[in-house]
Amino acid sequence: MAVDSNLSSPLGPPACEKDAKALRFIEEMTRNADTVQENLLAEILARNANTEYLRRFNLDGATDRDTFKTKIPVISYEDLQPEIQRIADGDRSPILSAHPISEFLTSSGTSAGERKLMPTIREELDRRQLLYSLLMPVMNLYVPGLDKGKGLYFLFVKSETKTPGGLPARPVLTSYYKSEHFRSRPYDPYNVYTSPNEAILCPDSFQSMYTQMLCGLLDRLSVLRVGAVFASGLLRAIRFLQLHWSRFAHDIDFGCLDSEITDRSIRQCMSGILKPDPALAEFIRQECKSENWERIITRIWPNTKYIDVIVTGAMAQYIPTLEYYSGGLPMACTMYASSECYFGLNLNPMSKPSEVSYTIMPNMAYFEFIPLGGTKAVELVDVKIGKEYELVVTTYAGLCRYRVGDILRVTGFHNSAPQFHFVRRKNVLLSIDSDKTDESELQKAVENASRLLHEECGSRVAEYTSYADTSTIPGHYVLYWELLVRDGSRQPSHETLTRCCLEMEESLNSVYRQSRVADNSVGPLEIRVVRNGTFEELMDYAISRGASINQYKVPRCVNFTPIVELLDSRVVSAHFSPALPHWTPERRRR
Ligand code: AMP
Repeated sequence: MAVDSNLSSPLGPPACEKDAKALRFIEEMTRNADTVQENLLAEILARNANTEYLRRFNLDGATDRDTFKTKIPVISYEDLQPEIQRIADGDRSPILSAHPISEFLTSSGTSAGERKLMPTIREELDRRQLLYSLLMPVMNLYVPGLDKGKGLYFLFVKSETKTPGGLPARPVLTSYYKSEHFRSRPYDPYNVYTSPNEAILCPDSFQSMYTQMLCGLLDRLSVLRVGAVFASGLLRAIRFLQLHWSRFAHDIDFGCLDSEITDRSIRQCMSGILKPDPALAEFIRQECKSENWERIITRIWPNTKYIDVIVTGAMAQYIPTLEYYSGGLPMACTMYASSECYFGLNLNPMSKPSEVSYTIMPNMAYFEFIPLGGTKAVELVDVKIGKEYELVVTTYAGLCRYRVGDILRVTGFHNSAPQFHFVRRKNVLLSIDSDKTDESELQKAVENASRLLHEECGSRVAEYTSYADTSTIPGHYVLYWELLVRDGSRQPSHETLTRCCLEMEESLNSVYRQSRVADNSVGPLEIRVVRNGTFEELMDYAISRGASINQYKVPRCVNFTPIVELLDSRVVSAHFSPALPHWTPERRRR
């Protein structure tokens, strides 16, 4: 029920007083976006005036935007690498931030094959928490009654390490789930999860997933929304159910937890939740044993009102599969965030995935935008509708004019705060889950495998392209190879080609290898050898569609269906990686 009309908000009638406050905050920030940004930059610059980094550029105490933009360069991660390494090695002097760096957040973006290390300070947790606290008040405007049930969310922590200087290095969500903000969150009827903290915080991904799914099944009629951070994560959960439903049914039938779940805190917490329920066990068997899994989400969780996952950017490739499993439920993309900084939220979360826009919240960091193809950065409130920009942030933790690597298009404004469509991440060729592989990484991997091929049978890779195959869960990388076989009698053997698959995987960055080894979110890499002349046909096809002969370059990744079909129709053999590549949580030093 909507509350008192004098609490109403331009965004719509709030569901409760707490929501009214959150919506007022959104209004206040977006109405005064420019002033908020100006003050925020002044605050960061005043606070960090004596850091080694800012002193280097002789700001001489200036905190205004013009001086800042004239004297401080726009940078990328590589420019900051020496400072970051010193902090990681234990230098506690104020290098980037006056406040002590509390930990490093390990980005899924990599540098020299390893996750980028993003410095953060303790108070940034409050800022992230603040953005989270705005999500449900907005959702409640569109979906009533979310306080009458629960959310089935698949949330995971990942392994973490310590830097040589002793700072934790872990993904931002791992940091958040392990924080008091999350673990000791006050009860909020609009934000109750079926997953117990014990399951979310279990470092073993199998036991964590198993318990979260089991709890979701036990409480199936309370579930009003189903989600994960990214679409790929939710699909992995569905696949998990496909593989293990008979074990769940058994546990529920007899009220006893599978013996593979050995985590003590999970076993203890589940002993209070899991009771024999033969009728539910039978229901699960009936629903899951059929070949047809269409609408499985709404069949098992019939009260689900929407799916809460990010399906923008690289995740858009999963929309058709999610539609199939959810029977076309709305998909809500609620927020846009990164390890560097949380950026903003979707004020219209029920919009179609293709129409999703994120409103950048001006209180999160200082934002600048470099027009695509241009050099001069513009202010948050000065971006133009329809234009594309690269996002640059200056954070409280000490990143100054830092290129995030995301390309955004302006779709409109909420008050004076712009709203953005996420266009793409720069330089990403292949992505299945949080892995991101760029062209040079792929090229290196092909070169390494091609060398192995040459050593074993004298052949080389003449041409290649790639494809992110998400028709199975988990998805996997496919490499189409056309071979140059010098000596016809020495065709590469199947064994050699499978070794080439593994060699490529060994060459890819640590996020890819972690996805393969620890998260099981990417399947074995596949090489599909195509017959000679296929890449010439590919060129003919491109030219027939208007490409210039002189400028034609083999695309290093394909996703246009007719091209993938053409390549697939020329495949002479297919080979999968026979083993897992190496991966350990420890970082390789440069
Ligand atoms: P990470 O560095 O691992 O924290 O990943 C952050 C990156 O994920 C962002 O810079 C974006 O490229 C991508 N990302 C985060 N949120 C979204 C979203 N809502 N839609 C599309 N891409 C996103």
